[in-house]
Amino acid sequence: MSQIFAINAFKDNYIWVLPNPESGSAFVVDPGDAEPVRAGLAAAGLELGGILVTHHHWDHTNGIKELLADAQVPVVAPVDDRIEGVTHPVRDGDEVRLDGLPVRFQVLEIPGHTSSHIAFVGGGMLFCGDTLFAGGCGRMFEGTPAQMHASLQRLAALPEETLVYCGHEYTEANLRFALQVEPDNAQLQARLAQVAEQRARGEITLPSTIGVERATNPFLRVDQQSVIESAERHAGRRLTSATDVFAAVRAWKDSV
Ligand code: FE
Ligand code: ZN
Repeated sequence: MSQIFAINAFKDNYIWVLPNPESGSAFVVDPGDAEPVRAGLAAAGLELGGILVTHHHWDHTNGIKELLADAQVPVVAPVDDRIEGVTHPVRDGDEVRLDGLPVRFQVLEIPGHTSSHIAFVGGGMLFCGDTLFAGGCGRMFEGTPAQMHASLQRLAALPEETLVYCGHEYTEANLRFALQVEPDNAQLQARLAQVAEQRARGEITLPSTIGVERATNPFLRVDQQSVIESAERHAGRRLTSATDVFAAVRAWKDSV
C-alpha cells in the first residue's frame, strides 16, 4: 500500500487516498471537501470507491454528501447521527474490508477529541484523524483527560513500525511545543530540525510512525520523568497519576 497519498484541503487538512491500481478506484479518508477530492482522484486517474470517516467534525465530513451525489459508494463511519450518508456504521473491534484492496482494517474506538472518534488500523497503517497527531494530539472537545489518555495509550501500544496517517499538518508547531516540555530530548531536537526543513520546502511531514511518536510526542510520554517534572513545574503542583500529567501537558499546550 505504498501508493497512499494525501490530498490537501482547507488550510492544513489531509484527505488520505488508498488507491487500488488494478481497479482504478480508491478509498478516501475524511473528505472534508468534495472538490479537492474530485480533482486529486482525477489527476491520479482514479475513481472514488468508498469513504472512511474517523469523526464527525465538518472538516472531515463536509464533502461526503457531494461525493455521494457523484457515485453511490460505501461510507464507513462511527455510529453517530451527526454524520450524513453513512452506509456502514462501525464499532470497536469491527473488521473493515475495502473492496478490491488487500488490507483489512480493525476499528478502534478512541474517544476524547470527540465522543465517537474511531481509528482504522491494519496492514501496518493507522488512520487516526484528530486524536494522535505527529508530535501532538487533538484537543479534548467532547472527552475527559482520562478518556483521551486511554485512547492515546491504545494507539501507542501498536507495533512501533506502524505508519501514522493523521488528519492535519500540525507537526512543526507540535514539535516546537514538545521541545518546551522536553528540551533535552535529542531525538526530538533532531526530528524538529528535519521537520522544519521539510516544511520550508513545502513538503508533507507524514506519515509518522508509532515508534517515532513514542520517542518524541510528549502526550505519549507522560510516564517519563522528564515530562512529569516539566509538567509539574509548569502546573506548579505535584501530579500524582499519568492522567494528571497528561491533563497538565494538554492544558499547557492549550495555553500557548
Ligand atoms: Fe480536524
Ligand atoms: Zn476534529
